[in-house]
Amino acid sequence: MPVSLSDARRADSRDRPPGPVPPRTRLWLDFVNTDAAAQTPGGDLLRDFEALLSWFQEAGAVDDERAAGIRRRALLQPAAAAATLVDARRVRAALRVLAEKGHLTERVRDDAVLEINRVLGRSAGTRRLEARAEGGYVRTFVPTGDAFAGLMIPIVESAADTLVNAELARVRRCADPRCHRVFLDGTKNGLRRWCDMGTCGNRAKAARHRARTVTRR
Ligand SMILES: [Zn+2]
Repeated sequence: MPVSLSDARRADSRDRPPGPVPPRTRLWLDFVNTDAAAQTPGGDLLRDFEALLSWFQEAGAVDDERAAGIRRRALLQPAAAAATLVDARRVRAALRVLAEKGHLTERVRDDAVLEINRVLGRSAGTRRLEARAEGGYVRTFVPTGDAFAGLMIPIVESAADTLVNAELARVRRCADPRCHRVFLDGTKNGLRRWCDMGTCGNRAKAARHRARTVTRR
């Protein structure tokens, strides 16, 4: 059951047209934003293994067929599924540090590279190129052995792409201190400060407006 890496990267890097960095998100940043810090007051989106697997499916990082297989395995091996969730949260915590501080500190980048390589190194499988039924081609990764082991591959590959493509300087945390969301700044001038203009950006604008009004009085 192949994992479609290309699907995972549809909102990601490989097929990017030449030109300025597009204002798109990255899979690994979406993954970081599932944590409790970014989701308050809702809490951690990955509250159990099923939530983790569903997130991967919705993100296109696992196809439905493989997800069904993993779900069956999780019922038979609940301890392995629980361990996979613990590991996913560990990777997520490491990637949060990379997203928030990676552009500032080489040490942080080195630690993240170790973590990325830890995940890549334990995942045995075969990379393939396959023709799609609806036309075109797709890169796939067929895990061998542990069904759970390959799950984190698209996430860490997305983070690896950010490092390889020298995009890390454009990855940062939202400027609103109450918001912990991380994002990729795809603007031309690279001055984007908020995770989302509709929420945090608007709040900041309203606060500036209130401050001006008070000053004029
Ligand atoms: Zn924000």
